[in-house]
Amino acid sequence: MAAAGEFLNYVLRSLKRGVELGGFPDDFYKIIAKPQRILAVSIPVKMDNGSYEVFEGYRVQHCDVLGPFKGGVRFHPEVTLADDVALAMLMTLKNSLAGLPYGGAKGAVRVDPKKLSQRELEALARGYARAIAPLIGDVVDIPAPDVGTNAQIMAWMVDEYSKIAGRNAPAVFTSKPPELWGNPVREYSTGYGVAVATRETAKKLWDGLEGKTVAVHGAGNTGAWAAYWLEKMGAKIVAVSSTNGAVINEKGIPAEAVLRYYQREIPFDAIPGSFVKDPDAPLYVEADVLVPAAVENVIRGDNVGRVRARLVVEGANGPTAPDAEKMLYERGVVVVPDVLANAGGVVMSYLEWVENLQWYIWDEEETRRRLETIMINNFAKVYARWEKEKEWTMRDAAIATALERIYKAMKLRGWI
Ligand code: GLU
Repeated sequence: MAAAGEFLNYVLRSLKRGVELGGFPDDFYKIIAKPQRILAVSIPVKMDNGSYEVFEGYRVQHCDVLGPFKGGVRFHPEVTLADDVALAMLMTLKNSLAGLPYGGAKGAVRVDPKKLSQRELEALARGYARAIAPLIGDVVDIPAPDVGTNAQIMAWMVDEYSKIAGRNAPAVFTSKPPELWGNPVREYSTGYGVAVATRETAKKLWDGLEGKTVAVHGAGNTGAWAAYWLEKMGAKIVAVSSTNGAVINEKGIPAEAVLRYYQREIPFDAIPGSFVKDPDAPLYVEADVLVPAAVENVIRGDNVGRVRARLVVEGANGPTAPDAEKMLYERGVVVVPDVLANAGGVVMSYLEWVENLQWYIWDEEETRRRLETIMINNFAKVYARWEKEKEWTMRDAAIATALERIYKAMKLRGWI
């Protein structure tokens, strides 16, 4: 985790640089450097021991010039309002870059979900949905999961919202279980998108992904599924971590085992390989590709010197601090930025939302094909821009491209 406000400063720095490089006016920066609306909520939950705890939460609606606000909800013990603002800004960029008809938002509740019972977690999820209900809606603001939340939590939230609305309202939350208006691809879509972005980059930089080694930092939804799809695409997973340690295996970690750990079928140390206590070990192993897929600010000025990979693909939001990114580029290491690499989640959310609005169903293959096409086009667009601007990072190219669409929409609507 970054120090208070540090992550927001990083995102603002990237935004400012994007505005300057893209040649947009300063006033544009002034507007997008602030969220349009912030909702702060207190959620009382009756705990299993009979006492009440009051949790603090937010919904930050950053910008809706391109369409309804869209972005996940994070349950994390250290999340701050400033982090939530930064994450909402990244969603605006990510949604714009992916060509989606969405603005950007993000929700957060300061809580350690691992310390709650299922009943307490359900009460919190429903309480949060009730608290933000007046400001969300299927064409207003559409939440989804993020770190610490999942499809079950979306099921409770969509149920709570539907009760308030007095009708089933499937399109107001995305990434729901397949049995409840969700799509089976959503469970693995972020990791799948990360793998597609890695494969597309590997085709440009090298002769492809076949036989390349990959270290994955984090084994949550993004990390575990990225490992699974990267292996299917021919890569070899050589390191993976959880919050309590890491497993390293030069001969290759079977991605199936990582997935089984994520699905709580086996303990972490049952993943084949040597166990080490340092959860950051994957950042430093010898590998062609590093996929940071946990939280923000893990590759920093103070540890970037130890990173050995030639390519970093950001599965998490904001894992590379700007000073560290600069040093990586000086060493010839390419960083595929979060707003491009991890867009698979929200692109899939969009497909699910379209299905829900029409009460229509696409099958898994059809959905995955659509997701893959959008990811490939997204990558090609950013790569083409990056190739033209030799001094830029790939993040600069992604952000400038995303800002262009936002700026044009603001111009057309007369907001600037
Ligand atoms: N939480 C994911 C992200 O950061 C997905 C958001 C969504 O599906 O709305 O992109």
